[in-house]
Amino acid sequence: MPAPGELTFIAPRGAKKPPRHLADLTPEERREAVVALGEKPFRAQQLSRHYFGRFTADPAQWTDVPAAARGRLADALLPSLMTEVRHLSCDDGATRKTLWRLHDGTMVESVLMRYPDRVTMCVSSQAGCGMNCPFCATGQAGLDRNLSTAEIVHQIVDGMRALRDGEVPGGPARLSNIVFMGMGEPLANYRRVTGAIRRLTDEAPHGVGLSQRGITVSTVGLVPAMRRLADEGFSCRLAVSLHAPDDELRDTLVPVNTRWKVREVLDAAWEYADRSGRRISIEYALIRDINDQAWRADRLGRLLKGRGAHVNLIPLNPTPGSKWTASRPEDERAFVAGLEAHGVPVTVRDTRGQEIDGACGQLAATERA
Ligand code: SAH
Repeated sequence: MPAPGELTFIAPRGAKKPPRHLADLTPEERREAVVALGEKPFRAQQLSRHYFGRFTADPAQWTDVPAAARGRLADALLPSLMTEVRHLSCDDGATRKTLWRLHDGTMVESVLMRYPDRVTMCVSSQAGCGMNCPFCATGQAGLDRNLSTAEIVHQIVDGMRALRDGEVPGGPARLSNIVFMGMGEPLANYRRVTGAIRRLTDEAPHGVGLSQRGITVSTVGLVPAMRRLADEGFSCRLAVSLHAPDDELRDTLVPVNTRWKVREVLDAAWEYADRSGRRISIEYALIRDINDQAWRADRLGRLLKGRGAHVNLIPLNPTPGSKWTASRPEDERAFVAGLEAHGVPVTVRDTRGQEIDGACGQLAATERA
């Protein structure tokens, strides 16, 4: 049975399965896996501590594991999942994007953004995306496949390792936030994304020990999956990519809106907010003369007022060949004022990483071409 949100119309094109990895497995499954290899169950915890706690998959460093067992355990549970094709940096190194090649040649990317008070990582949940939003570079190329849980987790584990090892200018640091705003629709890959959140938030030695409060799942609005997230007791932040307050326009900007309308998406968001105790973020890419009119700001303000939601306005980052561009500064200011008139908190997202096509799938798209 596909999970809600894993919809038939986004079935991945057939691809080889990624290798099984420690991070795909629950703690119990890890114990079973090491026992199946003829090892004592506690080896599972040792490997988990190395990978989730020390960010190493290198058997040479597992001094607490007998040398004779290391190779076998590494081959079976810590295979190489992805290789770095390249890093791209801007903002004096404070923004660093990694392009990864997966075992079957598909490409994904992740972005590390360092701010004075925090470090945020933007990760991919799918190779490509099946949601087909016309302003998004990832959407243009379609879906290659879902990432495995371990392929998601590894982007973060490697980012944490790079930060710890001082590879990002500014000295060693710790990761504070994770946003599922790279390639893909995280709720269309529900099981693997929630598996990744569990690995990242399980206490050591079973997982990385991060807080769900620092994790944001961003969605086009797959209503059944949003409800399931609430049912399963998640408390990560939920961001909804709204981009239009009216169904007529949203049907074209976020095509899945033809299935779940603005009202249904917002109802599911408010239910998540009630049950999780977390404020909802509303993502809104401001596109010149398309969705940035004062009347739309007013309509959006009416929909959101009193709900405790926060609006993130994102100046459109035009994709190559796009007929659309970012809003004029005066329209952007008027849009902000239109929301504030309803008491709706709003910020305009900084456009970090634009020179390196940050977070819009453009680098991987170039590489594929
Ligand atoms: N599939 C998820 C995550 C996608 S990326 C979602 O749609 O929420 C995160 C955000 O970047 C989304 O709000 C997405 O709509 C937005 N985005 C995509 N392409 C963009 C572009 N070219 N300019 C500005 N924002 C963009």
